[in-house]
Amino acid sequence: SYILAIESSCDDTSAAVLKNKKVLSNVVATQKIHEEYGGVVPELASRAHQQNIVPVVHQALVKANIDKKDISAIAFTRGPGLMGSLLVGTSFAKSLALGLNVPLIEVNHMQAHILAHFIEDEDEGIGRDEEIGRDEGIGRQQGSKGRKGKNEDSSVPEFPFLALTISGGHTQIVLVKHHFDMEILGETLDDAVGEAFDKSAKIMGLPYPGGPLVDRYAQEGNPDAFPFPKPKVDGLNFSFSGLKTSILYFIQRETAKNPDFVTENLKDICASIQKTIVGILMDKLKKASKQTGITRIAIGGGVSANSSIRMALKQAEKKRGWTTYVPKFEYCTDNAAMIGIVGYLKYQEGLFANQAVTAKARYGIGSH
Ligand code: ATP
Ligand code: FE
Repeated sequence: SYILAIESSCDDTSAAVLKNKKVLSNVVATQKIHEEYGGVVPELASRAHQQNIVPVVHQALVKANIDKKDISAIAFTRGPGLMGSLLVGTSFAKSLALGLNVPLIEVNHMQAHILAHFIEDEDEGIGRDEEIGRDEGIGRQQGSKGRKGKNEDSSVPEFPFLALTISGGHTQIVLVKHHFDMEILGETLDDAVGEAFDKSAKIMGLPYPGGPLVDRYAQEGNPDAFPFPKPKVDGLNFSFSGLKTSILYFIQRETAKNPDFVTENLKDICASIQKTIVGILMDKLKKASKQTGITRIAIGGGVSANSSIRMALKQAEKKRGWTTYVPKFEYCTDNAAMIGIVGYLKYQEGLFANQAVTAKARYGIGSH
């Protein structure tokens, strides 16, 4: 079967075609406009999705080398996300499914960040996807050739496993009992971890989204240069707003003494922040693993692209006997391939939506 998948929950317009569990194409148009504003502007995101969606879907079909007639079903992100953004993908998917007379499949974006691990790409060697253009419906893209391997670990996780979803809007530890049977064991009480990265970056004057930049600078910095306190939060929940405040005060204090403090110490500050954040995540993961006795640990969401969390997980394999599952880079941040794999899994079970389905800005992971 061929699943066409559409993702438009935030500021990336993406379309993918999957043949069963294999990704034939995964086109992502990243909206550059938000950089000017230091964060996502919902109304502009919605408008950019409207401009991008037709060319992005077209390109996904061309890259996959299939015709609209070949599509078996259309999967789309129903939520959670920005309402104006979700509406574009939802309306488009509904119309196209109606026009082609194929089943419609709704997908929960946070389930998709986890179920991305079930993608089974063939190992075709060579390189990662290239950046071609932005804001023109031809952003990051992945053709049927030139993909690198399958998920970087050697296999797909067996149930039950623990998933740490770390993204721009969420931070959750999820007990995954089956594809569509998930239970949240802990989550953030305030900011998401991606926000913690982005807001810290903003304090340092870095452009949005700052997470990947913090990661890049951190790689050349000393992680022990500036120790930041870790929050004390009970159970498996998280809190990142206190950390953000202590970073803000620290930088204000140091900049008052030396106006060039940030520029002179950027790498060390980034490394120190990153070490603190990854430490917080790993502490809770260890606790969750102890509590449940589960040692299969997967990560997902944009922050799972972070080099330090990836390294910490690899170390935990040796040190704790965990089996860890880390997604390929292109399946970490928002992409339609992950929507497509959920679409395929639901297609197999006949879990279809109907034309009355509507976008859902708040959408719990336990429901489908
Ligand atoms: P959600 O999935 O919760 O709805 P979202 O879809 O906006 O939110 P994602 O696209 O999954 O979020 O992730 C984006 C976040 O990932 C941003 O906060 C970004 O800074 C962060 N991020 C991406 N790469 C890295 C990295 N290498 N290090 C740290 N953070 C990163
Ligand atoms: Fe996301």
